Amino acid sequence: MQTIWANHALLPSGWARNVLIEFDANGRIRTVQQDSPARGTQVPFLAPAPVNVHSHAFQRAMAGLTEQRGPNPSDSFWTWRQLMFRFLDRLTPDNIEAITAFVQMEMLEAGYATNVEFHYLHHQPGGVPYDNIAEMSERVAAAASQTGIGLCLLPVHYEFGGCDGRNLAAGQIRFRNSIDRFMTLHAAAGVALKSLPDDANLGVAPHSLRAVGMADLKNYEYHFSTGPIHMHLAEQTAEVEEVEHHWRARPVTWALDNMGIDERWCLIHCTQMTPDETINLAASGAVAGLCPITESSLGDGIYDGVRWTDHGGRFAIGSDSNIRISLSEELRTLDYSQRLRDGTRAALATPDHSTGRRMFDSILKGGAQAAQRQTGRLEVGYWADMVSLDTTSEHLWARAEDAILDSWIFAGDDRLVSEVWSAGRHVVSNGIHIARSEIVAAYKQTLNSLKDAL
Ligand code: ZN
Repeated sequence: MQTIWANHALLPSGWARNVLIEFDANGRIRTVQQDSPARGTQVPFLAPAPVNVHSHAFQRAMAGLTEQRGPNPSDSFWTWRQLMFRFLDRLTPDNIEAITAFVQMEMLEAGYATNVEFHYLHHQPGGVPYDNIAEMSERVAAAASQTGIGLCLLPVHYEFGGCDGRNLAAGQIRFRNSIDRFMTLHAAAGVALKSLPDDANLGVAPHSLRAVGMADLKNYEYHFSTGPIHMHLAEQTAEVEEVEHHWRARPVTWALDNMGIDERWCLIHCTQMTPDETINLAASGAVAGLCPITESSLGDGIYDGVRWTDHGGRFAIGSDSNIRISLSEELRTLDYSQRLRDGTRAALATPDHSTGRRMFDSILKGGAQAAQRQTGRLEVGYWADMVSLDTTSEHLWARAEDAILDSWIFAGDDRLVSEVWSAGRHVVSNGIHIARSEIVAAYKQTLNSLKDAL
């Protein structure tokens, strides 16, 4: 049994003082006691560590390289797509493992305890499967074994290049599976997770309405009867127009009418919704998986967070393209986008809770649901996913309770994250991941080997 004691902790009942938490060798919380004498590892501030619900780890290595304009000024994705296709021709399993470990390390240092990996790079260049069809899934699991992050692996089903069922472009051929081959791959990915601690779990992800056949989309929860289901939905106007053209409904409306969307689902982005779609999708119980930094980077649009939360909608956050991994900045960007659109302040605050507290509570709950992980609460039986902030810093000095979260999110950054435990694994200490130097060395070596492709 390990023991952590905190001067201040965020419990399900609210802020508490002198809190003692004990967890067992598997990483499950066994005791939570308020007003306890100090013992064990002592920290000034403790909160549940959230889930990062959306990531494509390999894209981290492209960060900062896609900011030029292409030959057609109206095609703002040209440089991004060109680089990604060049890059995809080169990545090896060793590269994927090194980049993923680096990404997971950065997530942990930012205060996340869990990586939900939306994993679609499955096959060799040219599209032929590796001898082990789940080779790349095994490498993602190997990265999690090195970093100690809680992994929820979502093998991605990606079959077509658009709603008309056209073939994938040459650059996307490494993603491609028919539903039958994908089911084989998915089962093998489940076996790959058996090498990880008990908190790792498996879900599934149809990539988007454009990438999977209509008949399969309508039966997804029957094909895969357990685990979370995630899908990109209504990210950009071009996608809305394409789905409307071929299937005669907007993406969110089509999904609600045809796919049995409920609490098992996490829909990623949801930036392009009408007010009615926002209200109807919120009522389904699904989580909206928001990626505010990536959505800003790609110019996707602004998610209607005010209407969504006013109607009881649940949300979580993810780092998606991983152009920058920062939990505090994702939340800041989310609320600032609402303020800029509406000309308001503290857009997501409630009469009872500040903006930071409201968003933090929401992502704890939404992240746990979206990952189907017992997390988000410092409570007996839950995984010991915990983050401690450095409240001796000048940025948090003379702050208490909700104002600590607000000051971290709006005035501070990741340097305030001091300690992180994922299912009891103490992987960040004094702000630094315990294997940082090896992980960074392998990542730099990977970038060297890819330099001529980038
Ligand atoms: Zn994505």
